[in-house]
Amino acid sequence: MSKFQCSCGHVVMDNTDYLSYKARYIADQDFYDFLDELEESSKDKFASISFKYARDIYQCTHCNNIFIFKGDFIYEFKPVKENSHSLLMSKKMRNGQVF
Ligand SMILES: [Zn+2]
Repeated sequence: MSKFQCSCGHVVMDNTDYLSYKARYIADQDFYDFLDELEESSKDKFASISFKYARDIYQCTHCNNIFIFKGDFIYEFKPVKENSHSLLMSKKMRNGQVF
């Protein structure tokens, strides 16, 4: 996914690594299979194993809508609370504190 447009009109870009508005998620039903497969494989296969289990999720930096990618579909969600920015930011690196 290189870019897509939010319903607010903002273009969400994915053209580099370490984006503060992108994350990956793994279904709880797949999580232990994912860990088992990682444990049994070599480090160079990490990317392909991650791709097999993880899906992308983005947050629009303009209106805070959330986008979940599943297969060929994009699901857009609007936050209920207005101060819901930076939901996908690093848990470790946010203001130097762990959240
Ligand atoms: Zn937006």
